[in-house]
Amino acid sequence: MKLRFAPSPTGFLHVGGARTAIFNLLHARRHGGRMLLRIEDTDVERSRQRHAEQIISSLQWLGVDWDEGPVYQSDRLEIYRERAEELVAAGKAYRCYCTVEELEADRQAAEHAGKAYRYSGKCRALTDTDLDARADMQHVVRFKVEPGAIEFHDLIRGDVHFEAELIDDFVLLRSDGHPTYHLSVVVDDIDMDITTVARGDDHLSNTPKHILLFRAFRAEVPTFAHLPLILGSDKKRLSKRSGATSAEEYRDMGVLPEALFNFLVLLGWAPGGDRELISCEEAARIFDLRDVNKSPAVFDVEKLLWMNGQYMMRLSAEEIYRRVTPFLGENPPPLETLRGVIELNKSRARTLKDLAEVMHPFLVSDDSLEYQPEAVKKHLKGDDMVPRMRELHDALARVEPFDVVSTEQALRALAESKGLGAGKYIHPLRLALTGRGASPPIFDVAVALGRQRTLARLQRLIDSLPSLMASASVPSS
Ligand code: GLU
Repeated sequence: MKLRFAPSPTGFLHVGGARTAIFNLLHARRHGGRMLLRIEDTDVERSRQRHAEQIISSLQWLGVDWDEGPVYQSDRLEIYRERAEELVAAGKAYRCYCTVEELEADRQAAEHAGKAYRYSGKCRALTDTDLDARADMQHVVRFKVEPGAIEFHDLIRGDVHFEAELIDDFVLLRSDGHPTYHLSVVVDDIDMDITTVARGDDHLSNTPKHILLFRAFRAEVPTFAHLPLILGSDKKRLSKRSGATSAEEYRDMGVLPEALFNFLVLLGWAPGGDRELISCEEAARIFDLRDVNKSPAVFDVEKLLWMNGQYMMRLSAEEIYRRVTPFLGENPPPLETLRGVIELNKSRARTLKDLAEVMHPFLVSDDSLEYQPEAVKKHLKGDDMVPRMRELHDALARVEPFDVVSTEQALRALAESKGLGAGKYIHPLRLALTGRGASPPIFDVAVALGRQRTLARLQRLIDSLPSLMASASVPSS
């Protein structure tokens, strides 16, 4: 058994494409087959080498490890021309000299008559003399579609039936000598011994043409599996409107590759029971294209983020550190400085980027923390600010041990003794330690920072109170 993933390098790796790649990989692994990566770059206008490279690196990042390739179709142009010529020589294809203008006129005539446009088939009738006379003229090569039924068994959709009558004599070779997708895909699937073609539903209407071509080349027709569409949460075809659509965007958002892999595996397939978390290795033992759902799958970003949180929670601090450092900017501090904050937040953050965000106060030095103006305005109020913060500083300097329970008890006892609500201490403490109005539980933050840094940050806030409060009382324009 041999499968292939055959992206056209016209953009980033779309999540739908990523799922197609994953399903191909899993089916190949499950059945002890092989998987080929083929870059379908014969459309010179739209294909870019950089997109091919991006797609390849996204696949590697996702953990899709193909066995053969990448093969580039642009390296095989000569082969497609030869194969088209073979079909012409065998009378199964013919040269068509109709000009773009003629075809357009036919199209418009059909439109006026309210009929669906079809190629007239005019050039089928050219005699050898006609052809000789046109020998130097620009032309395309068209496939001669003969009437008859085209039936196949799709692994996902079951029995599919098409009538060749409804299919136009489609173009195989363009006038510039480049193959159309139909020709190159079939020639390659034959030459590369592909036994199973799993691709998006959007290709279903191409499949009867391909089957005619396989037959014309006297090659065995592979087994097909057309994967259901992926819809956005708005139940429309997944598009930019409903959020990120490329694997790269999710990587940059701080989604783990194994989480995205798991999430994509479940778009149209389920391991059974209520099970949601499954590794690539496990899925490769039980996945089968035959079990893929016919109906469209919904891409629920919230579920992906939940799943990513599940994966992050299970990683060690070392592993999280390794993965989060790209999000920490230049010169990230060493693991030991961050271990506490990682442990504290890894089960709270849904993405590596979120985690990097809450780690921010831990990355800056005690004297370069910036205070958010809105939080300053909201929480630094009252004439007693300075003594209130001094009392808190002293209480935290004395408390033993410096852990979450004791620090919280010390703060609450202090508030009570002064007849104040605990919030009068907690919010300024949060501002002192994180510079922000919101953070993970503040006693956890204090403990992760340690007594020394907690006190240093509190002292710095006390020292800055006069100027901070003065600036906050200036009415904003
Ligand atoms: N290159 C085609 C695409 O990106 C896929 C072709 C195929 O799988 O047959 O849509």
